[in-house]
Parts: sequence; C-alpha cells; structure tokens
Amino acid sequence: MEESNENKENIDGNEVNTEKEQEKEDIAEETKAKFTFKCTRCDNCCLTRGPIPITFWDIELWAKNGVVANFLPYLDIYHKPDGGIDLIFKPLPPTPKEGEEETQRDPFGNIPIEDLLEEKCPLYNKDQKECLVYDNRPLSCRTYPLEFDGKNFTVVDVDCPGIGEEGMSKEDLKEMRETAKHMFYELTRMRISLPVLSQIISQKVMMDLMRQNMEAMSKMSDDDRTKLDEILRKEQEPQPD
Ligand code: SF4
Ligand code: SF4
Repeated sequence: MEESNENKENIDGNEVNTEKEQEKEDIAEETKAKFTFKCTRCDNCCLTRGPIPITFWDIELWAKNGVVANFLPYLDIYHKPDGGIDLIFKPLPPTPKEGEEETQRDPFGNIPIEDLLEEKCPLYNKDQKECLVYDNRPLSCRTYPLEFDGKNFTVVDVDCPGIGEEGMSKEDLKEMRETAKHMFYELTRMRISLPVLSQIISQKVMMDLMRQNMEAMSKMSDDDRTKLDEILRKEQEPQPD
C-alpha cells in the first residue's frame, strides 16, 4: 500500500526535511545556473568604476611583485556616507571640456570623491584601451561584476554587457563565486583594520607634530615669542564681515 505524504511526515519527519532541503538545493542550483557571464572586454567598468576598494590581498600581491611604490600615488582614503572608510584607487578628475579651466589632476587633489563616482580608473589607458596594471589588478576587478555580501551574490552592474553571455562553464562560475567570496572576506578584514590603523597613525602624527612645535617654541627668543603671541591674539579677534 502506498504511504501518503502526510503519513510520511508523521512517521518520519527527517525524511521529509531531507526532501525539503533537496528541493531548496535544486532551486538554488537553478538560480545559480541562470547567471552566465563572459567578459566582452568592452572596458566600460574601467571607464566608470569610480573609487575601487583595495584590500590587504592587493597590497600583499604588490609587495610580492615589488610594485607597491607604483600604486602609492593613486591610493586614498574614502570616507563613505555610511561613516565607514575604505582604502581606494581615487579616480582622476575628468579631462576639462573645451574652454573649461584645467582642474586639479593630482589624485590627492581636493575634489570630493562624490564628484568622481562615475569617473574612469586612474590606471586605465583610454587611448590604448588597456589596464596598465593587469597582472596586479585589485581583487575587486577580478570579481567584477559579481559581489558577495556574506549571504547572497549580487550583480553590481546590470548594464555590464558580459552578463547573459554564453560560454561560462560550471568551473568558471565556481571560480567567480569563490573570488567574490574571497573579496568579501578581504574587504571585511580591511574595513575592520583600517579605522584602527588610521586612529593609531593619526595619534602618532599628532603627537610628533606637538613635540616638534614644543621643541621649536623652546628654542625661540623672548622677542620672537612675544611676536608669535601677538599674531595668535590677532587671529582670535573677531573679524569684520
Ligand atoms: S566586466 Fe563587464 S563592463 Fe567590464 S569589461 Fe567585462 S563586459 Fe565590459
Ligand atoms: S585596475 Fe585595471 S582592471 Fe581594475 S578598473 Fe583599473 S583599469 Fe580596470
């Protein structure tokens, strides 16, 4: 006699759970299978990436390859709107249009990062259409456009032309997902460490500056000290509108 599903649940709950778990796995597999990707090398991402987060993995790679110094001019700290901080490649300001004044092109210039969110990566050569640091490109570029948030995978750029392209093997997908997970882990490590390191370094810099100032003050003549007091007093006086 055939057993009903209900009976089965009453008699053997574990078996039903297993069936449900299998069903969930099948759905998850089906969802995974829907994501296909093959980079078309259109380079749109390098042209509009905005700030690119850097991780310890990237720094370790550059150190191993002896190229850390090459990256230093492009690194900056990004204070994010949510209060967190990231180490990033700071995009260069856009090339001025005809008739426009030349903007500050120093990566440490004072253009707010919010104005550079859509700008090209500073290490992309537009004329030659190539990444200047391909072998040393950050982890974030290796997983793009897939990201992992600790729970789910998300596509961060739905306009990426590589999405939906055929030709992705199961191994390719597995590797991409592993890289996205690795990126999440490395970014988390960096986001935990960076505020602590930044505070320690700022404190150290501040203490060194104070010590230098005190040393300089102790070497001043009485006349110079009186002049300095005068300057400071004037600076504190209310200024006319
Ligand atoms: S990841 Fe997407 S946007 Fe970037 S180069 Fe490949 S296809 Fe183009
Ligand atoms: S580092 Fe290279 S791959 Fe990454 S965004 Fe810049 S140019 Fe593109």
